[in-house]
Amino acid sequence: MMKIVIVGGGAGGLELATYLGNKLGRKGQADVILIDQNQTHLWKPLLHEVAAGSLDAEVDSLSYRAHAAAHGFVFKLGRFENVDKVNRRIALAQVMDEDGVEVLPPRSESYDQLVIAIGSSCNDFDTPGVAQYSQFLEQSQQAQKFHRQLVNYFVKLNRSLIDDPDKILSIVIVGGGATGVELSAELFNARQLFALYGLERVTPEHMRVTLLEAGPRLVPALAEEVSESVRAELIKLGADIRLDTRVAKAEKNAFVTASGEIIEADLMLWAAGVKVPDFVAEIEGLETNRINQILVGPTMQATTDDSIFVIGDCAGFELDDGHWVPPRAQSAHQMADVVGKNIIRGMKGKPLKNFTYRDHGSLVSLSQYTAIGVLMGNFGSGQSLNVRGWVARMAYISLYRLHQIALHGWFKASLLVVADKINHIVKPRLKLH
Ligand SMILES: Cc1cc2nc3c(=O)[nH]c(=O)nc-3n(C[C@H](O)[C@H](O)[C@H](O)COP(=O)(O)OP(=O)(O)OC[C@H]3O[C@@H](n4cnc5c(N)ncnc54)[C@H](O)[C@@H]3O)c2cc1C
Repeated sequence: MMKIVIVGGGAGGLELATYLGNKLGRKGQADVILIDQNQTHLWKPLLHEVAAGSLDAEVDSLSYRAHAAAHGFVFKLGRFENVDKVNRRIALAQVMDEDGVEVLPPRSESYDQLVIAIGSSCNDFDTPGVAQYSQFLEQSQQAQKFHRQLVNYFVKLNRSLIDDPDKILSIVIVGGGATGVELSAELFNARQLFALYGLERVTPEHMRVTLLEAGPRLVPALAEEVSESVRAELIKLGADIRLDTRVAKAEKNAFVTASGEIIEADLMLWAAGVKVPDFVAEIEGLETNRINQILVGPTMQATTDDSIFVIGDCAGFELDDGHWVPPRAQSAHQMADVVGKNIIRGMKGKPLKNFTYRDHGSLVSLSQYTAIGVLMGNFGSGQSLNVRGWVARMAYISLYRLHQIALHGWFKASLLVVADKINHIVKPRLKLH
């Protein structure tokens, strides 16, 4: 029986495993195996909400094992580190627990069809000190750690303000892309809610959020007027936005800019740049681009091997205009869709379909305050529509709902919406521990 191995159960990989498990695994037509380095899945675009506490990762995470059992595929825990294309095997690193005790030894797994879907991580551009002193928002554990520290800082600050009313909590975020912008807005929302839940001494002037961006504007992927609106909204909330400010190094509790300015921080977060982990560029026999994405052809197969598909952030798909498909959840979703169909077409001996990227627009959520962005489509005179407020917020939320529908189907996804509404009523509006 055909053995399909998918490595990486994120926005793209988990949707694909679910689709192939339902279509093939359940009917005994193929073995579908999903491998991830974590036991649970949390949709990555929610990480800034986890970091600020607006979302509880423990409530919203999905167990790979439970999901696999319900959808006809097998889940295996493992960290992918290499491919032996000749023998069609992937190498998995040893899995350790948080105390350094071995959970699983190094192993290998054979495949007939491999799908690489391991996403991307932040790019610190080898800036000295960043890896050591700054935090990142790449995985749920990192977002949860940031949140725990945030809570502790607020508790400490609330106490300190009795004796020192001028004390300030300084949070510095590097990178004015969607992650940095969205996290900044969530932090202002968190401050407001902490005050509501008993940490009332921390008023707006006691929290400083500084956003450092090397380029001339925020969210450069969006139109200039959208960037300007985002900047205006963040300034209204109280953020200190520094454009054209390149970070030259990080130290303990400070970023140092290229002009030598030292920006002190209690909490430091790096949210600039995207790249696929370096080990991918070293895998023999795969072609990669500048940010280590694996080059794929029109059908999403690796340029050097038809038995390997690549989807999501780690796929380098070049568009006709010379740009690359952007590393976004909507790209991963569309790629998972075409690869799922292509694997089935391949099994039936049918020709594979080419991938066509459709940009549905980009939206930035500024917590409960507003959302701003662009929707693409046929909107009368133009091809795109700038949106903000309720419409933008609904469009933003719909991207996550589409992911839930791909995983659970319409009925269960609707129940999850209801469950969210109930949680909103019965639980505090902020995770407080
Ligand atoms: C805070 C934040 C906000 C974002 N907001 C948006 C947004 O609003 N809209 C949007 O379109 N995009 C957004 N993005 C980008 C979006 O999250 C990614 O483009 C999308 O998740 C990519 O999907 P993927 O399947 O390629 O990778 P991911 O969703 O990152 O999944 C990768 C999976 O692979 C696993 N993995 C990684 N390495 C290994 C390994 N070596 N072995 C085994 N498993 C491995 C990981 O554990 C993970 O489960 C946001 C990203 C962040 C960080």
